[in-house]
Amino acid sequence: MRSDFSRASRRARFPGGQVLSTRPPFLSSPEAVSEPFLPSLCTALGQVDLNERNPHEDKELQKDTLVRWLDNNGHSAAASQLLDCGNSYAHLKCSKGHEKVTRIYCDNEFCPTCGQIDSRAHKTRSTRGYDRLLWAPILGYYVFTLPADIGASHLTREQLNILGKKAYKIVENILKIDGAMCRTHFAGKKLGHLQIHFNVLFPLLGTNGLGVITAGARDSIRQAWTAFINEFFSLSLKETDVSYSFAPTQVKKINKIKYVLRPIVDAFMFMTLSDEDKAYVMSLRKWHNTRWFGKLSNALYKKYLIEKGVDPVKFERDDPYLSNVCPVCGTRFRFVEILRKADILWQRFRRIDRDVAVDLEVFAALKTKAAAC
Ligand SMILES: [Zn+2]
Ligand SMILES: [Zn+2]
Repeated sequence: MRSDFSRASRRARFPGGQVLSTRPPFLSSPEAVSEPFLPSLCTALGQVDLNERNPHEDKELQKDTLVRWLDNNGHSAAASQLLDCGNSYAHLKCSKGHEKVTRIYCDNEFCPTCGQIDSRAHKTRSTRGYDRLLWAPILGYYVFTLPADIGASHLTREQLNILGKKAYKIVENILKIDGAMCRTHFAGKKLGHLQIHFNVLFPLLGTNGLGVITAGARDSIRQAWTAFINEFFSLSLKETDVSYSFAPTQVKKINKIKYVLRPIVDAFMFMTLSDEDKAYVMSLRKWHNTRWFGKLSNALYKKYLIEKGVDPVKFERDDPYLSNVCPVCGTRFRFVEILRKADILWQRFRRIDRDVAVDLEVFAALKTKAAAC
């Protein structure tokens, strides 16, 4: 879009134009008119096209900045992952020869692509969350915070493990829940520093059916967390910040799962952190910040859900990207090779979305299945 400033400066360079109407009153000499002047002196800043890249929105600028930082700080492999993210595909085939190709992402939360809301990485986390949680009539949700200076510090993996497990255990003991997901968020809404806190999301069974829990239970949970934090960090706090909410409808449950599983230290947040904080986030890349406890743990959840009559992999199986079962013949898709986009014979495939394409037979089977739902 052409700005008022660019129009004004062009007119200023061509005598005979309506120069006076766009010049600041104090620029009276012809010399002054012949040079472009600062746009903010005569034009509202919002109307000025400064040709600057916006680091909030410009993914390429974010990638350039991140790759430079990673390369300069001993993380060249991660830099390469970012540069290659989304550029290649996994080619899969079932035993009867039906095919699909799925786009490969780096899955780093600070990646400008993977760290977006509704990125493939976010969708994958959410889909698996739906399978373990969405069957519940109500989801309860607790957030356990830490004192600000501790929440901004570099807690070890062991400390994070203990704190996350304790957050779950407190809810389990007081609300008598069967299991939960505990996800550690490393930052809050404020940019520039860490704010570690623990999210516990769980099926809430056996309450009044609305999701409301008693004031006594809420007090007990807050007191238990405060007592534990005091003991663990040798403090004498009177209170800690602990909050409770719940999701009683399908739409609210879906939103809650997506919210808890959303990317937190995304590309922009990462860039605002100090070098020390960035290094800390990098050091925790292989650490699992989403953990499942109780009967929803990895070892037990399938049995637990099947006993309840719930299909434990329904959402994963219905996701054409994640499903490893061929919808035409029912056999498993097997990995064949990695292909670059240019190497794929696209005329043999139909795209389901930007991340997955299937051959024509698989596409027809998925269409029939969708129509039957
Ligand atoms: Zn990525
Ligand atoms: Zn097949």
